[in-house]
Amino acid sequence: MRLIIMGPPGAGKGTQATALAARINGAHISTGDIFRANVAEETELGTLAKQYMDAGEYVPDEVTNAMVKDRLSQPDALTAFLLDGYPRTLDQVHTLDAMLADLGSQLDGVVALTVDSEELIARLLKRAQTSGRTDDTEDVIRHRQEVYVSETAPLLDVYRERGILFEVDGMGSIEDIEARVAAALPA
Ligand code: AMP
Repeated sequence: MRLIIMGPPGAGKGTQATALAARINGAHISTGDIFRANVAEETELGTLAKQYMDAGEYVPDEVTNAMVKDRLSQPDALTAFLLDGYPRTLDQVHTLDAMLADLGSQLDGVVALTVDSEELIARLLKRAQTSGRTDDTEDVIRHRQEVYVSETAPLLDVYRERGILFEVDGMGSIEDIEARVAAALPA
């Protein structure tokens, strides 16, 4: 199965993505994790990405698309994958469509976690105390929510129109949300 998991920063995407990737026995492809690994290794890509990440901005589409194209063509992602944090812009949606067409495959579903915005800010501020992430300051947290609303939320309509959007209530315990995600998936 080939899936995307979406949701605003703080929706619990990363936590649910790990469980969901295991459930579908697919490659877990988190663009945020790949960028962070590059930052840690001080690669050219990492140096470039860091400036955007620290400001709560998106890394430019050309850079992100090229990175995902490379990752999706690796053998472990051929039959099943979960994209976590990608696509985030309409340009990325169209590029992903083209990549999958080239690979002769297509998406089976998009799981969207919904959480109310006050809860999101509270969760992220709590995570900031322990995460060590340089993009977890309050200003950046608020900015990342705004960027999500303007750049990424419109993608939900695109996938809803295609009939492959599965919205899941992201409030409650990790186990409850995991069960809801499993129940929402296409057969
Ligand atoms: P995440 O861990 O998914 O919240 O991603 C952390 C940061 O990495 C984001 O705030 C962006 O700066 C960058 N990033 C991750 N995925 C993407 C993407 N699909 N497009 C652009 N930037 C991204």
